Amino acid sequence: MEKKPFVTLAQLREIDQTYPTPYHIYDEKGIRENARRLKAAFAWNPGFKEYFAVKATPNPYLMRILREEGCGSDCSSYTELLLAKAVGNVGSDIMFSSNATPPEEYALALKLGAIINLDDITHIAFLKDIADKQGYAFPDTICCRYNPGGYFELGTDIMDNPGDAKYGMTHEQIIKAFVTLKEMGVKHFGIHSFLASNTVTNDYYPELARQLFELAVELKEKTGASIEFINLSGGVGIPYRPGQEPNDIAVIGEGVRRQYEKILVPAGMGSISLFTELGRFMLAPYGHLVTKAIHRKETYKHYIGVDACACNLMRPAMYGAYHHITVMGKDLNGPSTIYDITGSLCENNDKFAIDRELPLIDIGDFLVIHDTGAHGFSMGYNYNGKLRSAELLLCEDGSVKLIRRAETPADYFATFDFEGADIQVETAD
Ligand SMILES: *Cc1c(COP(=O)(O)O)cnc(C)c1O
Repeated sequence: MEKKPFVTLAQLREIDQTYPTPYHIYDEKGIRENARRLKAAFAWNPGFKEYFAVKATPNPYLMRILREEGCGSDCSSYTELLLAKAVGNVGSDIMFSSNATPPEEYALALKLGAIINLDDITHIAFLKDIADKQGYAFPDTICCRYNPGGYFELGTDIMDNPGDAKYGMTHEQIIKAFVTLKEMGVKHFGIHSFLASNTVTNDYYPELARQLFELAVELKEKTGASIEFINLSGGVGIPYRPGQEPNDIAVIGEGVRRQYEKILVPAGMGSISLFTELGRFMLAPYGHLVTKAIHRKETYKHYIGVDACACNLMRPAMYGAYHHITVMGKDLNGPSTIYDITGSLCENNDKFAIDRELPLIDIGDFLVIHDTGAHGFSMGYNYNGKLRSAELLLCEDGSVKLIRRAETPADYFATFDFEGADIQVETAD
């Protein structure tokens, strides 16, 4: 199945009148429809809630759209907490996922009344100390993150390696943590685990759910804790490559329901709420990085140089990740060449595609790089003094809105103290 852009060449030409490439553009209609499919898939669980993983795409316009669709925010930093608050997500609309978390971040999470997900047993004392110093009561709701160790397998496939991951508590630790927290007066408990990333299979969530549901039953038996929610976290993936079979969220929701009815209901735990913290699944397919071909170079390979670079989309350089590319206005059955598509960083890994067969590209052609709606713009950086691009929203009514302007040299220079060093700087020519 060929991947089709959600924008047309005519739309890109129109946008080009106002916003130069490169930019990320997001599809409001696609985002809303997908969020509704997720909600419908888990409608059997009355307490179900998706906490969008803010790190995937920390843009308040998009977070607000998701909030309108019933989603909270999953945050892991001070600024992510501030963003969540800015769009109206406070209290139990925020999941705060800790891992080597600094004290001031915990303090803000306490202040906002976020649900705190403790990454480690030592964080109980760490959080208590902050609460005491800042004059906050220790929360009466706490979530603990579980790491079963070993490998996470589905059938004969090894999906990921939790035993090598820095996150979560061991089985023994999570039992101890529950006992301690209960003694400290915590009344409402949750458990969380994230065992595999970008899974393109309908079996991941149901298998994760099975493990967490069994753990919940055991924790209740051994500690008497009142477990009120189970957080399946992120990890439901998307098909980056054409021809990959996408996940069917309705099938996933049904698979989780079967485990719920098999394990939790008979244990008298049939009122537990399920939470998710999806990032990639919520937004990745509904974002494109739009760039233009500006150079053709013929040496030992055929290169097309574009006006975007790895600073706009790091995944190919960092993970060797595949992102599909559509050359706009070119016939897929027409003449083609094997290209490397490169950015302008002084880094040889700044390539959006290596040895990719694409229709013949002319200078000035628009290239749409697919599936950049999550972990795209947000992983951007300023290497080589490159500036972050604009973010645009293709609204449901077909209009295009600027939801984050492009950085300027003045933004890049803003944190230098030029005056203190008595240096004159010009931020434009
Ligand atoms: C990154 C992350 C997510 C989202 O992961 P996706 O792969 O984007 O679904 C959810 N929860 C936590 C704690 C994370 O770190």
